[in-house]
Amino acid sequence: MAARVLVAAEKPEQLQGLAGLVKALGAEGEAVALLAAGREEAEKAAYSVFKTLYYVEGGGRLQPCQLHELLEGLYAEHSPVLVVGAATKNLTDALARLSARHNLPMFTEAVSIQLSGDEVTAVRQVLGGRARARLAAKAPAAATVNPAVYAEQAQGLAAGAELAGLRAPAAVLEETGYEPKKREAVDLESAEVVVGVGRGFRRKEDLAMAEELAQLLGGVVGASRPIVADYGWLSEDRWIGISGKKIRPKVYIAIGISGAPQHMAATVDSKIIVAINKDKNAPIFQYADYGVVADLYQFLPVLIKKLRERLGK
Ligand SMILES: Cc1cc2nc3c(=O)[nH]c(=O)nc-3n(C[C@H](O)[C@H](O)[C@H](O)COP(=O)(O)OP(=O)(O)OC[C@H]3O[C@@H](n4cnc5c(N)ncnc54)[C@H](O)[C@@H]3O)c2cc1C
Repeated sequence: MAARVLVAAEKPEQLQGLAGLVKALGAEGEAVALLAAGREEAEKAAYSVFKTLYYVEGGGRLQPCQLHELLEGLYAEHSPVLVVGAATKNLTDALARLSARHNLPMFTEAVSIQLSGDEVTAVRQVLGGRARARLAAKAPAAATVNPAVYAEQAQGLAAGAELAGLRAPAAVLEETGYEPKKREAVDLESAEVVVGVGRGFRRKEDLAMAEELAQLLGGVVGASRPIVADYGWLSEDRWIGISGKKIRPKVYIAIGISGAPQHMAATVDSKIIVAINKDKNAPIFQYADYGVVADLYQFLPVLIKKLRERLGK
């Protein structure tokens, strides 16, 4: 039983977005879906755009190797021209395995996908979201997509897919425990003032200056990647950048931060950017509304003192 499109999701709400994608592709009734969850969950997402919705008997979380094995079976059964997964870590991993096995071109994190004859085109965000790339490949192809981008097309879908249970393949990895992430409950994304700290700071204790500045201005401290990921001086809640949080404050004060594109892409919605850097050629000055060329160790104590005087604190 061939199907033109095979979609895969881990949660019913992701599958709803993918049902919207199937509609947008004009592949209603020519698609099958895999939901890596139990029957009860599948019943919430049995949209009629899918001929068959496969679920996992007994439910439970599946590892990428298990998802891959299920996808292999469905790929062999339906010979789809397009396989699309929700852009989760597990499904990206599983689809990469499928693509490698069958030599399929794969588009990751597409924001739109089109299917015309035997050509698949996809649009992806590049350069930290500052540009979009349009890519094309001959079918069959694989892709991952953020299902939320098809939320509009997913409105008002009727139920009606036939449900079919699959047995979960054996897991290769044994899960031996979970450790909750350390969180500091900092709301960077809605802060009006953000003080960003970068590798210009030489010691963890020196971040106290940035903390004090942020307190005086009623803001919060954020950081570039090295401060969080390499030095571990601050928790992940503070990470600003394409791999961290996107900020949109009234004022962003970047201290000892060079201005790498992966950092700056997440700060473009700031109303005012102030940069403090001792290198007058640092790229951050290309983005800054106000720039201070100074050694932070000399400049910050003076700035803090003046602010304290001005604010009477
Ligand atoms: C795939 C990928 C994803 C990434 N994602 C992110 C991300 O999400 N967020 C992120 O931040 N980065 C990210 N990066 C890393 C990014 O490319 C940069 O390496 C990083 O942002 C640099 O951090 P920094 O500006 O703190 O350090 P540096 O680039 O080392 O800059 C330090 C700056 O401090 C200045 N300085 C030094 N001493 C002083 C002083 N005493 N006084 C004043 N200024 C001083 C220097 O002149 C320099 O400009 C990513 C990279 C890759 C490849």
